[in-house]
Amino acid sequence: MKIPAPPSPPTQRATSGPGSTRPPEKRPAEPVLEVTGLTKRYGDVEALGGFTLSVAPGEIVGLVGHNGAGKTTFVEVVSGLIRADGGTVSVAGHDPHTARHLVGVSPQHLALYPSFTVREHLKLFGGLSGLRRGALSDAVDEVAADLRLTEFLDRPAGFLSGGQQRRAQAGTALIHRPALLLLDEPTAGADPETRQALLDTVRRRADDGAAVVYTTHYLAELTELDATLAVAKRGRVVARGTAAELLTGLPGEVRLTFEDGTEDRRSTDDPTGTLVGMLAGASRPVASVDVRKPDLDDLYRSLAVLDGD
Ligand code: ATP
Repeated sequence: MKIPAPPSPPTQRATSGPGSTRPPEKRPAEPVLEVTGLTKRYGDVEALGGFTLSVAPGEIVGLVGHNGAGKTTFVEVVSGLIRADGGTVSVAGHDPHTARHLVGVSPQHLALYPSFTVREHLKLFGGLSGLRRGALSDAVDEVAADLRLTEFLDRPAGFLSGGQQRRAQAGTALIHRPALLLLDEPTAGADPETRQALLDTVRRRADDGAAVVYTTHYLAELTELDATLAVAKRGRVVARGTAAELLTGLPGEVRLTFEDGTEDRRSTDDPTGTLVGMLAGASRPVASVDVRKPDLDDLYRSLAVLDGD
């Protein structure tokens, strides 16, 4: 199948010497994360089957794919939690096992100590990454303010609500300002305020130069983050590009609901024309009209067609 070309990574200004009359040259920024051909098996299950991905500084990659596509396994390998069977991982030129200070991970399943307060968690993770005294307490205050955790700082994690725990977990990933952020479904179960605080913070970190891998099932979050997409399937990245590049031309859906409760749904890549035709042909009173743009499910379906699934 055809894999859409990856977007060009952000460029970095080359420095020109004092007094130089040459305009600064632009050259591609070195990727923070470079992963090639990762493989990982669990018995008969091939969790990763040649997973390749690179992420530039300042880039947010939205890692999407069906359940079981290998996203979490990839995050676990890159964060040094498990070892791959094959392939290479470079985090700013380091092996992931010696680069933990460069990486911040917010795992899919919450991993907090119930009797430790939020402050203790943040200090623990910041301290493990080398932050000390004033710098550590400033970082705690900053992350707490960004993630709206300030009023819960001295509450044990076990007494926090689910959304507050999510934010505390994200805080442990962000506290040391890592070059690479791995966020595995950080907004799962989060309320709109929690979601927004997380998205705003992630966007700011990318603007400051962090490379971000953001796993989610929600396209709207990736659009809001201005992320590029990497679509995982059966342990590999099978498509890469912006949401616009990958979704343009895919059919959305127009749905008319009639006053008698029945529906007429049509898949179309021309919603306006289809809607006009459907309304003109409607012989019963219409109660509501719903026009849905292509979403991740449409993208997965189109990739399945190309793959011959
Ligand atoms: P989801 O969207 O559901 O989180 P995912 O894309 O993160 O899915 P993974 O959790 O990476 O998928 O799982 C990839 C495959 O590897 C799945 O088939 C899963 O069942 C299998 N798998 C993952 N971890 C293990 C394990 N420890 N032992 C056995 N199989 C595993």
